[in-house]
Amino acid sequence: MNKIAVIGAGISGLSMANYLEKYNLDYHIYERRQKDDLAGHGFLIPREGIEYLSQIIDPSLLFKHGSFLKKYIQYSHKGKILGEKDLDHVFAICRLSLIKLLSQNISTEKITYGETLSLDTKGKLISQNGVHIDADLAIIADGSRSRIRKEIFQKEKMRTVRESEVVNIITSKEIADRIENDFMKFHHEDGGLTFGILKLSHETILWYSQFDNKKYRINEYSTDNLKKYMLEVFSDWHPLVSSIIKKSNYENVHLWSVYELEHLNPFYKQNLVFIGDAAHPLIPFTSQGVTSALKDSFVLTKYLVEEDNLQEAFRKYEMERKPEIETHIQNGRTLLTQFLLPISQQIENILPISYK
Ligand SMILES: Cc1cc2nc3c(=O)[nH]c(=O)nc-3n(C[C@H](O)[C@H](O)[C@H](O)COP(=O)(O)OP(=O)(O)OC[C@H]3O[C@@H](n4cnc5c(N)ncnc54)[C@H](O)[C@@H]3O)c2cc1C
Repeated sequence: MNKIAVIGAGISGLSMANYLEKYNLDYHIYERRQKDDLAGHGFLIPREGIEYLSQIIDPSLLFKHGSFLKKYIQYSHKGKILGEKDLDHVFAICRLSLIKLLSQNISTEKITYGETLSLDTKGKLISQNGVHIDADLAIIADGSRSRIRKEIFQKEKMRTVRESEVVNIITSKEIADRIENDFMKFHHEDGGLTFGILKLSHETILWYSQFDNKKYRINEYSTDNLKKYMLEVFSDWHPLVSSIIKKSNYENVHLWSVYELEHLNPFYKQNLVFIGDAAHPLIPFTSQGVTSALKDSFVLTKYLVEEDNLQEAFRKYEMERKPEIETHIQNGRTLLTQFLLPISQQIENILPISYK
């Protein structure tokens, strides 16, 4: 195999690099951000994702950095239990920890930080300083708003999803002691507003809120304003919710906008191939973004190793991955529709995750 450039060191770029390492394939990663500049949210990862992760990270190390959730409990915003379901090996971990774990097998000379790549007028990879990247094959893993994808598929239609998320990761033993290893999610009766709580460790909590962004306008992006807004919106919710919002440190808080493609593009063109969110943005409701990125990396590596012909490897990769992704996209849209409806009109006890 010739020289491989991987663009982006998120979950998909790093997992790809781990698989390439396994097969001793030569690669280099180019990443736009600086090494320690990591905005944080967290992931719910179903059993399948954990199985793929265990192929490239020591599972005992992985399990030290997050926790398995026992149950999903759905509450009304006042705290009435609406439904419960046992969870089968659903793991919760913060993004920062997973990125660090995936980076540990990548030697420093194989990754360049602070390097934003794009395409020149002839479709060749070029850095922000105008230096051409010498690669026979480029694996594009630059996320849902992929610049390279947009340069190639100029007619694609990207749209903002009618849901935004405020995510916060806090260290508070006092709050952690008050909750079990369950996934608790509170829902406003009118729909379009939820508050989820996940315990990541004995002292770390991830909480997040999902907003119908047509109904709730969170347009101030200073932490003080965000906290004020959250306190207003959730003031009459169950005391656990309002007290968590009040007692939280907002150092790690982040407001996420969510995007999706109206239609998927091809997953490859010439010597460029797309993986993870760059190939197929998945809305967070599916909880399948990480697992899909891992599977993309696994399947693409398999065909790169098996096939002499690059186009054939790409074709087989797309053929294997696209149908499953289409299912998750449809499930994500269903979950979004449910989220926007009043509780009384929602299908009973729906799991907050997409399965094949
Ligand atoms: C709020 C929220 C909650 C989520 N919850 C879950 C969940 O519970 N479970 C789950 O499985 N998924 C979840 N997801 C989805 C998940 O985050 C993504 O599917 C996954 O992180 C995709 O990883 P990626 O590597 O493809 O993209 P990204 O994580 O976006 O990584 C892309 C990388 O490329 C770099 N980059 C971008 N452009 C360039 C460029 N031009 N040159 C060089 N580098 C570049 C970026 O800096 C970044 O590091 C959630 C997403 C959000 C927003």
